[in-house]
Amino acid sequence: MSHATENLPVADPFVEQGDLPVVGHWIDGTLHASRSGRTAPVFDPAIGRQTKVVALADESEIETAISSAARAFPAWAKTSMTKRQSVVFRFRELLNERKHELAELITSEHGKVVSDALGEVQRGLEVVELATGFPHILKGDYSENVSTGIDVYSTKQPLGVVGIVSPFNFPAMVPMWFFPIAIAAGNSVVLKPSEKDPSASIWMAELWKEAGLPDGVFTVLQGDKLAVDGLLTHPEVQSISFVGSTPIAKYIYETAAKHGKRVQALGGAKNHMLVLPDADLDLVADQAINSGFGSAGERCMAISVVLAVEPVADELIEKITERIGRLRVGDGRREPDMGPLVTAQHRDKVASYIDVAAEDGATVVVDGRGIDVDGAADGFWLGPTLLDRVPTTSRAYTEEIFGPVLSIVRVDGFEEGVELINSGAFGNGTAIFTNDGGAARRFQNEIQVGMIGVNVPIPVPVAYFSFGGWKDSLFGDSKAYGIQGFDFFTRQKAITSRWLDPATHGGINLGFPKN
Ligand code: NAD
Repeated sequence: MSHATENLPVADPFVEQGDLPVVGHWIDGTLHASRSGRTAPVFDPAIGRQTKVVALADESEIETAISSAARAFPAWAKTSMTKRQSVVFRFRELLNERKHELAELITSEHGKVVSDALGEVQRGLEVVELATGFPHILKGDYSENVSTGIDVYSTKQPLGVVGIVSPFNFPAMVPMWFFPIAIAAGNSVVLKPSEKDPSASIWMAELWKEAGLPDGVFTVLQGDKLAVDGLLTHPEVQSISFVGSTPIAKYIYETAAKHGKRVQALGGAKNHMLVLPDADLDLVADQAINSGFGSAGERCMAISVVLAVEPVADELIEKITERIGRLRVGDGRREPDMGPLVTAQHRDKVASYIDVAAEDGATVVVDGRGIDVDGAADGFWLGPTLLDRVPTTSRAYTEEIFGPVLSIVRVDGFEEGVELINSGAFGNGTAIFTNDGGAARRFQNEIQVGMIGVNVPIPVPVAYFSFGGWKDSLFGDSKAYGIQGFDFFTRQKAITSRWLDPATHGGINLGFPKN
């Protein structure tokens, strides 16, 4: 087992390896280029060209990263709360000062509009702010004199090395759902970001170092399935926090659990918006556009299906179509409404669902293929697409598309809408649009979904509530951030204590204490 990082080449984040800059691993407070020689391409989606390569870890790099984190853990866990808190506060200050830099970096690899990237950083920052309050949240309980002369109290201790595996669509926010809390609670973190947009993690690692976090407490291990499997099976890794697609989430949950780890694995989604006939259709059309096409539909909380309770469908489609005509698609650095998709491959997969839907009998109201854009010709473009009368048996309805494709399904009433939502495999987010308080109340009570909006299309809970869906959208019983996040990253101990003195000793007694 290698414990040394000396034999890993040291790299600058943008040092040239071959023709292109390489994004390396962050281990022991230093950036390391690829030793394995395994790499993957990183693209700028708005120009459609490869701009960097990312290192993909091999077994020895995985071992080096995890053992560095394991070495850093004991001292960090023992560091006083006050000192840990000041490091988290400093990280918060630095992130707030420099968030524009991070947003631009995200756009250059993900493609989303810069202001949207800034929004994701802001949501991550809110979890950092929650984490600064950890001394209060991690306070234990104390009960005095539970039996004569006996006190019981509890403490919460960090787990050790914790693993985070994140998706491409929020390269800063999703890791920040977990690592601020994990680090504040005294754990050391190994983050395996998406290989599609790996630089944000390195940027955040450098910020932690500047904030005064000891080397080894935050590690970034770049890689693919090999690196993930390394985390899932390594005995030093105590827990896995995963966010990504459902098949991988299920695999992560089963494999990590089999290796004795605590797991929270958040999966994919197919979020519906139920529109009742009394709703304000202009408000609904605006919100359907925002939630369907924001970040090019590459959000796990995006609305991808509008359930229009008749007779509103025709009027609503007219309003949505008119608004789509006003949307500007282009290079995210030029602040259009919508940017490109993350890769050509993903764009082609998303576009293929338009044909699937049409073949299955849907009407293509707006086809986003071949639209005019404010960006390079080779960018990974697909414009906002609207489908009507999508059959609920079509793969375009049952599968997660994860792109700017909004489907309309016409239903006859509230019950049919609720039934459809509840019969789906996913249960991440949903929303109802109505002015009928009774219907909204019934909806929130009957719907089998983890996060619900009432006239709010993307009901992402704030940092002090927890984030997570039901069914195939979350495997494991712990959601991300909020109090559940603190519980996930700590183990509780209950201590029963008696200070012996002759008055309360009680002598020999083989039964339970009676008083
Ligand atoms: P993905 O599942 O392809 O990848 C997620 C992570 O898993 C990446 O780090 C990737 O390297 C790794 N991975 C991929 N294949 C693997 C394998 N075979 N074995 C082990 N690890 C593997 O997801 P993505 O395309 O990066 O992200 C989009 C998906 O994430 C969508 O399904 C979206 O709904 C979901 N998502 C869910 C939430 C949520 O909160 N529920 C939030 C964001 C994204």
